[in-house]
Amino acid sequence: MMKQLAILGATGSIGTSALDIVRMHPDRFQVKALTAANNLPLLSRQIREFSPEMVAVLNEDKARQLADMTGPGASTRILFGPEGYEAAAAWDGVDTVLLAMVGAAGLAPALAAIDAGKDIALANKETLVMAGDIVMARARKKNVAVLPVDSEHSAMFQCMLGNRTKDVTQLFLTASGGPFRNTPADAFPGITREDALNHPNWSMGDKITIDSATLMNKGLELIEAVHLFGISHDKVRVLIHPQSIVHSMVGFSDGSVMAQMGVPDMKQAISFALSFPDRLNLGLAFPDFEQLRSLTFYAPDTRRFPSLEFARIACECRGTMPAVMNAANEVAVQAFLDRRIRFSDIFILVSSTMHAHTCIDNPDLSGIIEADQWARETAGSLIK
Ligand code: NAD
Ligand code: MG
Repeated sequence: MMKQLAILGATGSIGTSALDIVRMHPDRFQVKALTAANNLPLLSRQIREFSPEMVAVLNEDKARQLADMTGPGASTRILFGPEGYEAAAAWDGVDTVLLAMVGAAGLAPALAAIDAGKDIALANKETLVMAGDIVMARARKKNVAVLPVDSEHSAMFQCMLGNRTKDVTQLFLTASGGPFRNTPADAFPGITREDALNHPNWSMGDKITIDSATLMNKGLELIEAVHLFGISHDKVRVLIHPQSIVHSMVGFSDGSVMAQMGVPDMKQAISFALSFPDRLNLGLAFPDFEQLRSLTFYAPDTRRFPSLEFARIACECRGTMPAVMNAANEVAVQAFLDRRIRFSDIFILVSSTMHAHTCIDNPDLSGIIEADQWARETAGSLIK
């Protein structure tokens, strides 16, 4: 069956990998809508290649520039801003929406897609961290599937297939450990932007690469797992696994553990979310087990990497706290990328902002957005 796609964040690392999959399987996928923030040269090439019915970009100015690039004869409609992104997510005839924008900007389009009854392939983990209760409840009500794109969650999802949720007693969330796995704590303040963007195993967008270096990515993924699989955070164990071959594991009541493995390439997880339950040929080799010789696992050092503790505190408080953690982290990561703060300041900023927050229970969407705004202002003034 031909699947009609909307790809939000089409010019990013996940978006371009998804379009690689579409290119490999033109008999299975058609692209109806694409969105991006800024990369207009790439987006206009994508428009030429995939002829989507619509695209959306960051603002009116970018929309005008893009219209100049595509020319007057182009049939693709160009929208912009939050309304444009939501229109892409709800676009008529689209079956599945790949949410691969970065950060909190993904929340509104995610809800728009759900409200329009579209299945979701979710890369944008920040959405679930901010508003997982609301997003998952709405998806259940609308009977739409939320299929994980994050490789760890895809792995756990794959391990659960054919099993019953009630038999799952533990999730093992694996982490590469990032580039500073073996870096002593006293060297952290001197870590540069370039050091932190140099991830050993995965090639990804800047924000998630910094999150991987601080292990905040694993903190966000812990909360993502809590919502996707309806499990308490204390049933999720994080393991450092430097080889990034086991993408995560699920433990069952009888002591059996299922692991999902593969070379570290996001195409596997993206395509499984787009084509579930079919598996597509992606031309990926199996891990070279003889060459690997050993797969290792050990507990993360939460003293050097307190992000995992922040995420557990956020899970305990629930309410608005995960959104506050996420927003403070987004501000801190951007400030680090702009060379305004040191690497180790990221931890201080997130922790101070969370400490200053009075958690609100069972917030509605506006309560979450308010908490997000409050955390951005608080973290911003702490930087000053
Ligand atoms: P990226 O920075 O490479 O790409 C982000 C995309 O979103 C780009 O198309 C960009 O134009 C668009 N975008 C950025 N900010 C936006 C905004 N404010 N409004 C609208 N569009 C915006 O990021 P990525 O690495 O592809 O990651 C995308 C999402 O997927 C993130 O939430 C990330 O955590 C998640 N994810 C990524 C990977 C990976 O391997 N890259 C793995 C797992 C999960
Ligand atoms: Mg991941």
